Amino acid sequence: MKIFLIGFMGAGKSSIGKLLAERLNMNFYDTDLLIEKKERISTNDIFQKYGESYFRDVEKKVITEVCSNCDNSVIATGGGCVLNDENVFAMKKNGKLIFLDASLENIMSRVANDNSRPLLHKVSFSDRHLIYERLADLIVNADLSMESVCNQIVCALSHDKNPFYLIAGPCVVESSEQIDSISQQVKNLGATHLRGGTFKLRTSPDSFSGLGKDGLTLLMEAKKKTGLPIVTEITRISQIKDFENVDVIQVGARNAQNFELLKELGKTRKTILLKRGFSMTVKDFLLSAQYVINEGNENIILCERGISSFEIYTRNTLDISAVPILKKLSGLPVIVDPSHAAGKSWLVESLSLAAVAAGADGLIIEVHNDRNNSRCDGEQSLTPSEFENVIKKVLKIRKTI
Ligand code: PEP
Ligand code: MN
Repeated sequence: MKIFLIGFMGAGKSSIGKLLAERLNMNFYDTDLLIEKKERISTNDIFQKYGESYFRDVEKKVITEVCSNCDNSVIATGGGCVLNDENVFAMKKNGKLIFLDASLENIMSRVANDNSRPLLHKVSFSDRHLIYERLADLIVNADLSMESVCNQIVCALSHDKNPFYLIAGPCVVESSEQIDSISQQVKNLGATHLRGGTFKLRTSPDSFSGLGKDGLTLLMEAKKKTGLPIVTEITRISQIKDFENVDVIQVGARNAQNFELLKELGKTRKTILLKRGFSMTVKDFLLSAQYVINEGNENIILCERGISSFEIYTRNTLDISAVPILKKLSGLPVIVDPSHAAGKSWLVESLSLAAVAAGADGLIIEVHNDRNNSRCDGEQSLTPSEFENVIKKVLKIRKTI
């Protein structure tokens, strides 16, 4: 495998590249150093004496050499090497391009103390930024510490596999009969996981807030009977010990910035399904994930579940563009919750299909066997037969993309 680090001078490509290579047990190369070795003078002097086009020619040769040799390497590239189509083609063909995205402010303060490399002003920051953004297979936030930047990359690389999560079940576990019946039905229809809340954070203090530990016991029984892994929401740190047999721990929208909870979950090795908060930007959301990753837990699934907006026809506004953005910015699996976005059962199918077409790695859908009498979110829950219909169409879309 080859990893090409791209981005502006001062984004930390060399220092992060070295650290990353060490962490991944890979070799490290810096194309500017290879150019200097080849020419036996500094890059600055090459520019001064022979000009930029000469430099670009040597750079192209170096990129070609690196692409055909240098296996198992992290390669820090010169900031301008993406301006040449042949370089781009060769790098794309031979490895992954990771854009270290640092803010202009940070870049300027870092390069201000470094006169060893030539500063180029031909292409503006924003034009160049667009090029990096477009070409990158993964974009990482390079304004964070070197350790955090490396964590983002290592974590993203470990999520390269391609599973599809089909998580289904009631909003809340209500009784043994209810969860037994629904779990069996969704399993038969192709669900990969059973969902069901038992510690519920309700907007009104008078609403049913779940069966608590008894609900966990019911979920474990359903898991035993169906073999389906369990997804259920945690609401506070003290519950972690009770979640030992839960397969995927959900952090709900209301707790998405409960950093103390996220840090504690980062110390476990459980898969964490992290939902986006109502008012969180994509960047806020990724920083929440970073709290988990930095404690050593890379098993995270991000979930877009709709955000608050001026539109009130739907319960939340599903931010479809967050799907490809989150994938590109994190490399983590990204799933969509059409149920809490829509708030209406008849909309769930359309939102599910849109999510899958946009590249979602899965769906978490509320399904109920008696939604008119459900104790929570019945109006947005699908009947098992509606769920079956959605699954059929989802699989068709997945085949065509
Ligand atoms: C849920 O999935 O049951 C839930 C409460 O979702 P959210 O946290 O996204 O509102
Ligand atoms: Mn719900």
